[in-house]
Amino acid sequence: MDADKIIDKLYESCGASLEELEFLIDCRNEETAQKLFALARSRALENYGNKIYVRGLVEISSFCKNDCLYCGIRRSNKNAQRYRLTKDEILECCREGWALGFRTFVLQGGEDAYYTDDIMTDIVASIRAGYPDCAITLSLGEKTREAYQRYYDAGANRYLLRHETATPEHYAKLHPKELSLASRMECLQNLKEIGYQVGCGFMVGSPYQTTADLARDLLFIKSFAPQMVGIGPFIPHHDTPFADKPAGTAELTLFLLAIVRLMNPKVLLPATTALGTIEGDGRERGILAGCNVVMPNLSPQSVRKKYMLYDNKLSSGEEAAEARAALERRVEAIGYRVVTDRGDYKG
Ligand code: SAM
Repeated sequence: MDADKIIDKLYESCGASLEELEFLIDCRNEETAQKLFALARSRALENYGNKIYVRGLVEISSFCKNDCLYCGIRRSNKNAQRYRLTKDEILECCREGWALGFRTFVLQGGEDAYYTDDIMTDIVASIRAGYPDCAITLSLGEKTREAYQRYYDAGANRYLLRHETATPEHYAKLHPKELSLASRMECLQNLKEIGYQVGCGFMVGSPYQTTADLARDLLFIKSFAPQMVGIGPFIPHHDTPFADKPAGTAELTLFLLAIVRLMNPKVLLPATTALGTIEGDGRERGILAGCNVVMPNLSPQSVRKKYMLYDNKLSSGEEAAEARAALERRVEAIGYRVVTDRGDYKG
């Protein structure tokens, strides 16, 4: 096999076989990476120009009923600082975000029983009423189809639910036995059928991950055809069972982001907080590898340090929504521009 030919094929046909993807990942070097990044950039430019879409991220709760082995807010982490935002606090975040130029609000949180379907539906409906020109994205984990439908009917447009890994055996090593890949996939299917713009994704370098797992993730994304893909490095949290596992690298994350861009030319692809956390210029490097979205933190200052999914998670500097001007300068320095736009999928 020849890496150059696989990259050309990815560019021309937006696809590759499992074996080809494995080969490309395993044999990657600086040269193949640069070629991949250049093609991924040109694909993003073709579809979205040099626009970078911003989403205001509101982390609504650090309570979670789940016990994912990698996550700092897992229920058995007794040292996690717990908080939840009220409806008024969430609306205040949206008000501030709107003034800062955000036209997408992303509500993310642990699976917190406080937010019953009635409460969540009411919160979504209130944001929709107050901000008719904005997109509402939810990232609240696994819910019943009825709940997803109610949020959608109340005005939510998009839903982010990373599949985490497309390999059932790998999924079982990252999660407690009550969580399964099958139910995660059923949720993704339900979201799509209801009409959401859906985002799936995975962590790079999560414990026990193999190259074959990554290739299966890439092929799953291609077949699911989501509107958004969230990919960031795994970063250990000191109070989890994976405290001593090594973090994923920015280098492999960027390589995979570029492949995702080539396989899914129109996808909305964020340069994630985790990428910015392990590498100071991770966000810019993500954009130069084909990303076209950034999601600054719009949560109240008082809780930002409490949503600690992994150690040293960024929530200040250009990661903070209020530092939008600084973010704009960094993005402009590499030839792109931050836009005030809902930034919907161009299907
Ligand atoms: N509860 C919702 C869910 O399960 O989708 C949303 C919140 S969850 C904390 C958001 C994402 O954070 C997960 O999908 C996971 O990929 C990521 N995450 C959790 N722990 C992480 C870690 N240690 N390193 C990197 N990403 C992590």
